[in-house]
Amino acid sequence: MNIKIRDDLWLKPEYLNHKIISGNKLRKLKLNIAKSKTMGYHSLLTFGGAFSNHIAAVAQVGKDYGFNTIGIIRGEELRFKINENPTLKFAASCGMRLNFVSRESFRDKSSEAFLQKLKDEFGPFYHLPEGGTNDLAVKGCEEILTAKDANFDYICCPVGTGGTIAGLINSSKPHQKILGFPALKGDFLKTDIAKFAKKNNWILVNDYHFGGYAKINMELISFINRFKAEYNIQLDPIYTAKMMYGVLDMIHNEKFPSDARILAIHTGGLQGIQGMNMRLQEMNLPLIQ
Ligand SMILES: *Cc1c(COP(=O)(O)O)cnc(C)c1O
Repeated sequence: MNIKIRDDLWLKPEYLNHKIISGNKLRKLKLNIAKSKTMGYHSLLTFGGAFSNHIAAVAQVGKDYGFNTIGIIRGEELRFKINENPTLKFAASCGMRLNFVSRESFRDKSSEAFLQKLKDEFGPFYHLPEGGTNDLAVKGCEEILTAKDANFDYICCPVGTGGTIAGLINSSKPHQKILGFPALKGDFLKTDIAKFAKKNNWILVNDYHFGGYAKINMELISFINRFKAEYNIQLDPIYTAKMMYGVLDMIHNEKFPSDARILAIHTGGLQGIQGMNMRLQEMNLPLIQ
């Protein structure tokens, strides 16, 4: 059930659908889990950064659904820091095999040669791309919007690799407009989304990435803490806080028509807060409450 924030703004609490395989990650993995089972795979292999929600989700999937999981992690230096990193520590505790590669090799993550090398090393596996975006992930995300959401004019969501917004676009109604709030800088996103999106009723709002992926400042930290105090809803610093900050800022600046009904998708990601707080502590900044 959607949660009312203001008369014109509602929140879809996707983060409540699972504690770890949270929000959009559950939607993106669901059909892939079914397919890999049908195809008889015993292992899932995927890619991610040190604090990746997708890595945590796949590790938990492995545990819950009986797959071996292999996580190819960006950054060789992390090899000796698993226990200092809450996401990697969690993934390892679920039984995920962590394999650390240099940033340079990581860039090769979708090349056939690299995947073949990984197959030689780990045996056959079902490949999930970084962030989990593929056809089935987009299809899973098409289930986020339901018939009851048809009366909203604007659907807002954070964007990482673009799979989630593509699913929302595909299942949206013709009168609806989808606004994506990228959590990172980069022009490639538009092309990536267009590969999966079947309609043109969407735009990206690039004004609220706060300097780039996982970048944060005092203003965003206090926004997260104020939002929680006021609505009792936890936002994550990487994705949902930036989107929600953007949506409210746009409302205040009258960027929406005055009678617009807006639905913001809370895509989850709360497992990342602990890791972010460790970084904030190192930088002597206030913590996310
Ligand atoms: C991964 C993630 C996103 C980005 O989803 P994409 O499908 O990659 O665009 C958004 N929000 C949260 C909480 C996420 O974990």
